[in-house]
Amino acid sequence: MTPSPKPGILDISLYVGGRAAIPGVAKVVKLSANESPIGPSPKAMAALSAASHDLQLYPDGSSRLLREAIGEVHGLNPDRIVVGGEGSGPLLTMLANAYLQPGDEAVLSRHAFLVYEIITRANSATPVMVPEKTTNSAIKVDVEAMLAAVTPKTRIVYIANPNNPTGSMLNREEMARLHAGLPKNVLLVIDSAYAEYVTAKDYEAGIELVTRHDNVVMTRTFSKLYGLAALRLGWLYAPAAICDVLNRIRGPFNTSTLQQLVGAAAVRDRDHFWASVKHNSQWLPWITAEIRKTGLRVDDSAANFVLIHFPPPGAEGAKETGGEKTAAKADAFLSQNGIILRGVASYGLPNCLRMTVGTGEQNKLAVSLIQQFMAA
Ligand SMILES: *Cc1c(COP(=O)(O)O)cnc(C)c1O
Repeated sequence: MTPSPKPGILDISLYVGGRAAIPGVAKVVKLSANESPIGPSPKAMAALSAASHDLQLYPDGSSRLLREAIGEVHGLNPDRIVVGGEGSGPLLTMLANAYLQPGDEAVLSRHAFLVYEIITRANSATPVMVPEKTTNSAIKVDVEAMLAAVTPKTRIVYIANPNNPTGSMLNREEMARLHAGLPKNVLLVIDSAYAEYVTAKDYEAGIELVTRHDNVVMTRTFSKLYGLAALRLGWLYAPAAICDVLNRIRGPFNTSTLQQLVGAAAVRDRDHFWASVKHNSQWLPWITAEIRKTGLRVDDSAANFVLIHFPPPGAEGAKETGGEKTAAKADAFLSQNGIILRGVASYGLPNCLRMTVGTGEQNKLAVSLIQQFMAA
């Protein structure tokens, strides 16, 4: 006999993050992990240097200063914010640990962020995958189909809004419709990792829903627009009863003093915030339009990346157009030229690549290489 993990854990496929290096290529442009091309706020960096004192002291276990900064900026009660010192991933894990039991079901969309499936299986619960609706420029969560997948066993419904890797979003009305159709004992988890980038007027990140209802949680991260992926910091906004549950099971010192001080400075720097939004709003449409000119399908995105569709292997007409233009071949060509995009086969999208909005120079280089690849 050997120790065996809980049922479901060995059904989990290992999570592989975006590649960061190409063997034999010295200088690479990494557009594979939705990181910020702007980097962190100068004020956050100053806070980091200033915070390197008193490292012998335990941090404030309640992360009060950080929760107050977030509350101040977003107009939220700090008592209903829980922060997490390993990014927003572990906050999602804590929710699954607290609310899923063996035999329960969690509903998620087919091409949702992979973490939801992992944390569901880790709790011996069953992920129920619901196909999205596909149009000619979007793969989008199908609200009615999600609701139809809810059974008496359902405990959690996960939505990333906007979703990674599809880039599509649900608007306020669609999300409210999803929530309204759920039984009151089902928790709706809205992962708003890319909320800061969304400029659509009819978008609601989840704050209104959490404020009004007892069964909705919104998670956020400092890894994307705030340019602090290396810091590993996330937060969530939830009803008081859910915060109480999470505060009982979280690590007693689950954020460091450095994370608290840097996070607070970052969230308060609204100039940096708007500069990052502006950069993205400028380049996202440009990248989308330029790549579409090659004939490739690029989905509409509300976030800081685009999903590019390539013809499947063996597609008709490949011979006449100078060989197959598959995602794998494009990826290989771009890699040889120092550009790393994200293959998304593990998300059930084997013929797509995801490209993060980079600096202006990086975007131009990546786009011109994709144009060369398609013209060859
Ligand atoms: C990047 C991302 C996150 C954030 O992860 P962290 O653990 O906070 O770095 C969460 N959800 C989605 C959908 C993401 O793409």
